[in-house]
Amino acid sequence: MNGTAMERFNLRDKIVLVAGASSGIGAATVERLLAEGARVIAAARRMDRLQTMAKNRPGHCLPLQLDVADPDSTASLIERMPEGWRNIHGAVVCAGHDVGGRARFDQADAETWANIIETNVNGTIRVCRAVIDQMATRGTGHIVTLGSTAGLRVYPGGSIYNASKFAVRAFTDGLRLDFGKTDIRVTEVLPGLTRTEFAESRWGDGDRATEFYDNAPGTLAPEEIADAILYAMTAPAGVNVSQILVEPTRI
Ligand code: NAP
Repeated sequence: MNGTAMERFNLRDKIVLVAGASSGIGAATVERLLAEGARVIAAARRMDRLQTMAKNRPGHCLPLQLDVADPDSTASLIERMPEGWRNIHGAVVCAGHDVGGRARFDQADAETWANIIETNVNGTIRVCRAVIDQMATRGTGHIVTLGSTAGLRVYPGGSIYNASKFAVRAFTDGLRLDFGKTDIRVTEVLPGLTRTEFAESRWGDGDRATEFYDNAPGTLAPEEIADAILYAMTAPAGVNVSQILVEPTRI
């Protein structure tokens, strides 16, 4: 039963899509959602990882191939799901990268830069567009986007990634306003530095990524961001946790 004031929203048997579920924050979110009894569609490009994640969890975890930078892959998202999985309560959009990032603007080519926007911004928009119709028809649902402290403060070498996360913030704010007269909730989670595969994928260099995280004053674990996501998703139905900024204690 959901709806009583102060009663935590119950995710049991609710279907939640996690886009970008194959590692880091998305993978940790899948585990937390499953622990809450949700049925989780784990989507990303690396199907092998998703299949491992979904193994021995039939009916509870569905692996789904998804490239958010590909309009066809995203537009066909719902129709590619089996019948019993299409009534999506929530979508957590974790898909994102910073490949070529932490570099001066003239140190990567235009396509490398453009793919960060294509994935982080257009990809988020596409996933939200794919799931919003049924939420709007029902008048209920929950969308969670992944912003970043990089969407609040710029830093040298971050021009494109910063731009992508500023855009995610504006988009998420706009989405919340557009559905403000419904029971659809829209949350932006803004993590600080979190130890995931993000830095390795940025540089294609695991040792450099390890050194980067080891030299940071503090880092968060992906499970700690999943915890914030679950806090928002299990807030009472009448409560929209609009933004959650989570940073390491030592910055
Ligand atoms: P991660 O471990 O590298 O995970 C990124 C996820 O995004 C992977 O599952 C990856 O899956 C997926 N992805 C990338 N491109 C995709 C595409 N075109 N289509 C579908 N999925 C795609 O990094 P993370 O730290 O968990 O990042 C998750 C989100 O948190 C990102 O939006 C990131 O910007 C944000 N964030 C991270 C930090 C941090 O310090 N780590 C801080 C603030 C915000 P596949 O490669 O299998 O497709």
